[in-house]
Amino acid sequence: MALYVYKFGGTSVGSIERIKGVAEKVKQAHDLGDQIVVVLSAMSGETNRLIALAKEMQVQPTEREMDVLISTGEQVTVALLSMALHQLGCDACSYTGAQVKILTDSVHTKARILHIDDAPIRAHLAEGKVVVVAGFQGVDEYGNITTLGRGGSDTTAVALAAALKADECHIYTDVDGVYTTDPRVEPKARRLNHITFEEMLEMASLGSKVLQIRSVEFAGKYNVALRVLSSFKEGCGTLITYEESQMESALISGIAFNRDEAKLTITGVPDLPGVAFKILGPIADANIEVDMIVQNIADDATTDFTFTVHRNDYLRAKALLEQTCVDLSARNVTGDDSIVKVSIVGVGMRSHAGIASTMFKTLAEENINIRMISTSEIKISVVVDEKYLELAVRALHAAFELDKVPANA
Ligand code: ADP
Ligand code: ASP
Ligand code: MG
Repeated sequence: MALYVYKFGGTSVGSIERIKGVAEKVKQAHDLGDQIVVVLSAMSGETNRLIALAKEMQVQPTEREMDVLISTGEQVTVALLSMALHQLGCDACSYTGAQVKILTDSVHTKARILHIDDAPIRAHLAEGKVVVVAGFQGVDEYGNITTLGRGGSDTTAVALAAALKADECHIYTDVDGVYTTDPRVEPKARRLNHITFEEMLEMASLGSKVLQIRSVEFAGKYNVALRVLSSFKEGCGTLITYEESQMESALISGIAFNRDEAKLTITGVPDLPGVAFKILGPIADANIEVDMIVQNIADDATTDFTFTVHRNDYLRAKALLEQTCVDLSARNVTGDDSIVKVSIVGVGMRSHAGIASTMFKTLAEENINIRMISTSEIKISVVVDEKYLELAVRALHAAFELDKVPANA
């Protein structure tokens, strides 16, 4: 008898009909004699609707109250799925995150899971029940409801799979696996049969929202066998593995992009020790995350310094930088919040030279100006103007022949 954790995302539980479809699927697996834990998201659009309600009530609601509010969407779907299972004659029981004791830290709206007590779930499974758990939420040591950040149901599922030592964790969604890039942007994108944890982690952290970053971290750390599949059509999906793909020739596995970027530049900064700290210190103190950083070589004893932040933090970061500009007697501050980051990812990069130059040549041929570049062992990221996002992704997809990835490689 195997134990599976199945997670269904918002689109998969977006209507009564779809929840009934999920129930059929779960019942089928349960009837085969396997133990099934189901993790659900809220109905698609529900979490956004709840956030919009809060904003109507108060400009800046406390994060504690936000969590009480936005965790409700998942409570609706778990109850409905249990009812649908009962309707099919399948014994099932729904639980909120707090009820199954998904213990988190107290960082509201982006809490981290600290511990899961697996005993109660095991007991319910042993009674032959399907256990249906609300994703995206937990409880802190003081009994406050917490949430795990957008897309957090993926992490609930993987954390439960780790705690229960499940045989596999299946993430059922509206695509039939992890693709070479977001198929909404490049229809020629191909499904990957395998992707390594390392690559998936880069893809997720560089903007591919198919899996929440933390879920991939968790799966890697606890060696959870993780598979992304379609809720709507049969198939083996994409397995996320430790082993590198058999496709020796694949230099690049995928292209990720992030639309939520903004960049800021401070020019004419006196080039003295401690300048980077003076510029970025106030930004860090304001809890603003900085991604790429570029400092130019000093010219006439002054330097220019550019960095990127999340677009939501742009105005706050700009105001802080303008103050720093005055304090340091620098020349001026400029910014741009219509930029995006496009990245190519692949473990094949380690052993092949010339990937960066192919990337830059491809973008040059499309007349796309690169504003910033950053590299690591298995990725190259560029910042470009927002209007070039689709063009850049498609051109790179073709240049690295990702449209030729064999579907069953
Ligand atoms: P769910 O509601 O099931 O959690 P998400 O919307 O969070 O689903 O994630 C699935 C979406 O991720 C897909 O519809 C797709 O547009 C997007 N996506 C982005 N990058 C990729 C990729 N590389 N492969 C597959 N899907 C991707
Ligand atoms: N409902 C939450 C969200 O929309 C969590 C999830 O779907 O994973 O972000
Ligand atoms: Mg998701």
